[in-house]
Amino acid sequence: MSQTTNEPALVIHNGTAVLPDRLLPDAVIVCVGGRIQRIGQALTLPPKAMLVDAKGGYITPGFVDMHVHGGDGADFMDGTADAVRTACRAHARHGTTTIFPTTTTGSPEQLTAMLDACVEVQRSSTAGDEARIAGVHFYGPYFAPDKVGCHSRAGRRDPDAAEYRRHFATGIIRIATCAAELPGAEAFYREAKRRGCLITCGHSNASWAEMARAFRAGMRHVDHFWCAMSSVASLRQRFGTPMQASMEQFVLANPEMSTEIIADGCHLAPELMEFAYRQLGPQRLCLVTDANRALGMPPGRYRFGSETDGDWIESDGRVGYVPGGGALASSVVGLDTMVRNMKAMTSASLPEVIHMASLTPAERAGVGNEVGCLARGKRADVLVLNRQLKVKRVFLAGAELLR
Ligand SMILES: [Zn+2]
Ligand SMILES: [Zn+2]
Repeated sequence: MSQTTNEPALVIHNGTAVLPDRLLPDAVIVCVGGRIQRIGQALTLPPKAMLVDAKGGYITPGFVDMHVHGGDGADFMDGTADAVRTACRAHARHGTTTIFPTTTTGSPEQLTAMLDACVEVQRSSTAGDEARIAGVHFYGPYFAPDKVGCHSRAGRRDPDAAEYRRHFATGIIRIATCAAELPGAEAFYREAKRRGCLITCGHSNASWAEMARAFRAGMRHVDHFWCAMSSVASLRQRFGTPMQASMEQFVLANPEMSTEIIADGCHLAPELMEFAYRQLGPQRLCLVTDANRALGMPPGRYRFGSETDGDWIESDGRVGYVPGGGALASSVVGLDTMVRNMKAMTSASLPEVIHMASLTPAERAGVGNEVGCLARGKRADVLVLNRQLKVKRVFLAGAELLR
């Protein structure tokens, strides 16, 4: 690859690069035309270069968040381009450079508005403004009635082919969730597969047998492991004895299945984070924020989903929860916090932790050729972190995010 533009190369140096399989000390990363051109040690620098000093910290790929609802007071389901931009910008400050805005339960019109707003922002955004939308995660409204969680119950329904075909026709949906036990789930999965989506089962009380049918229709991922999903105990209530295997056993036993965890330290105790890492490994486990609009906002009451009729949740500044009950209602922190927690609370190495925050979600969601690791030819989505893994600088396609 040769330098074809007159713009100076972006050169990030004096840090330890985090590669997918190892650390590279004293690294130099050269980016040209929004792409990574070279990675090495003691490289000869191009004559015209904009030097960025990593000050002895880490140089990592930008994070990829495949499950995220909002931030800085905006929820993607607000359905306006302004709200979408606000949330994407909030997450970019926390190191997310590739984002999959995620729907919740809501009316068909609210979903249409959300998808249209994401298409508009995806088309009009310039590098450096905000996290880049790689596609939408179509998540609600096809949840199981007994696993709706903190989402608005009125906006839940069974899959409706006429409705979801309209949504898929926007072309922006890259990840598609449906509870496997719902009538019409398999037809939904087959349509999503035809569209090339990563197909996931979430907010579901599915049995092993239902998961096996879903798998045959193309389902390969499960949303936020251990949250709003079936267990042996929940299936015993549904079917009695003999006790049945659940989504948990199906994912752990099947090497083609991946999943994700909310590693904010509030949803899962450290031993469950360690268990997920050890059982699934960094190739099958993604870190997600599942953050709602309270990220970046003071503690208080916020709507989850649309600002007009989403259900109320509360944030104490550490996590979201359902008022009065104590049930959790998604996170209020960025992927940088999840990365620090995984490093501090589990035995995963730093390259493995960064893998789970970037390359694994990128590959599972079908954008692994473009982003996800520091490699020649990939988009120059690069972070500078300090030794405590705090985000210091964010580059999107080689353009620095103004923080
Ligand atoms: Zn959820
Ligand atoms: Zn969610």
